[in-house]
Amino acid sequence: MQALPIAHDISLQQFNTFGIPARARRYLRVEDPAQLQALAADPALAALPRLVLGGGSNLLITRDEVELLVLHMALMGKEIVGETADAVLVRGRAGENWHEFVQFTLAQGLGGLENMSLIPGTVGASPIQNIGAYGAEVKDLFHSLTAFDFTTGATRTMSAADCRFAYRDSVFKHEDGRQLAVLDVTFALPKAWTPNLRYAELARELEAEGIAAPQPRQVADAVIAIRRRKLPDPAEIGNAGSFFKNPVVSGEHCARLLEQWPNLVHHLQPDGTEKLAAGWLIDQCGWKGKALGRAGVYPKQALVLVNNGGASGAEVLALARAIQADVRERFGVLLEPEPVMV
Ligand SMILES: Cc1cc2nc3c(=O)[nH]c(=O)nc-3n(C[C@H](O)[C@H](O)[C@H](O)COP(=O)(O)OP(=O)(O)OC[C@H]3O[C@@H](n4cnc5c(N)ncnc54)[C@H](O)[C@@H]3O)c2cc1C
Repeated sequence: MQALPIAHDISLQQFNTFGIPARARRYLRVEDPAQLQALAADPALAALPRLVLGGGSNLLITRDEVELLVLHMALMGKEIVGETADAVLVRGRAGENWHEFVQFTLAQGLGGLENMSLIPGTVGASPIQNIGAYGAEVKDLFHSLTAFDFTTGATRTMSAADCRFAYRDSVFKHEDGRQLAVLDVTFALPKAWTPNLRYAELARELEAEGIAAPQPRQVADAVIAIRRRKLPDPAEIGNAGSFFKNPVVSGEHCARLLEQWPNLVHHLQPDGTEKLAAGWLIDQCGWKGKALGRAGVYPKQALVLVNNGGASGAEVLALARAIQADVRERFGVLLEPEPVMV
């Protein structure tokens, strides 16, 4: 096997949607799983701490120089691979753009992923935080995935149970999953499709268009229209989508908060806990539209932190910490960041 083409001192600015101008000391564009096998077989390279990078849309690089070996996943390909009695199986390799993959499934006449249209990033990253939007999550359509295990140097197939999916969470975010790189993901898309319009805003959007019995493509178009109105386009203004997860508190804590803030946004969970809207909490602290240095809070959505131009990762982090401190002081709630920090 040829030596791995590891590049040095590479700018990551184009590779993270916050547009943080950090540099990678070592960078490898992964186009073939054999490169990962070669890496795992080389004791010096295998010992280096790694960052598996997709589209960099759920990432905050907090330092100017990244010491980790950056493995930029660029495995390409998407195809229908089979079927079961009630579903068609579609596989995307890790480096495929998620939105284009969703559009590909729709072009094959397959519904199921349309509510997750326009989420930035790659297919390979979609299971990592079990991405979701408008009442749908990856885990709902997931069939299986293939992952490379850096500790054994072997490839393994994983089921939904193996992935331990939860709200914006999976095994890959925990100690026993961090040594895995996702190579491809297979989805089971239903042969008998029905629209998922649980999310009231989506139902209203279709109603406003006069569409009573939508096709998957029409649901996708409605989702795209809503997202374009609400969220900043990373190509224009650097951001990583929602910066904080919606916090979950006990029923008693929620009741105490409601006494003081009767219009607190809260959703009862099956286990009796309450999920609060992080954006609402941040808005109440007066952060919407505010800035700290060159980092700011998006004026239309308090949950989205933005790079107002030239911000360093440290500036975005300082803003996030200031918001966390205010929300904690006022509501006694700790906001947990959604993006991965390196
Ligand atoms: C404008 C905007 C809107 C967004 N909206 C949503 C939304 O509605 N719902 C939602 O859930 N998310 C949303 N996000 C977050 C983001 O799009 C998703 O988390 C996405 O899955 C990240 O993909 P990525 O390829 O960019 O991952 P990266 O940011 O490159 O990586 C994120 C994490 O996944 C790991 N990773 C990436 N690829 C692999 C792989 N192949 N194998 C193993 N680990 C890997 C990385 O190591 C890192 O820990 C939004 C982001 C933006 C910028």
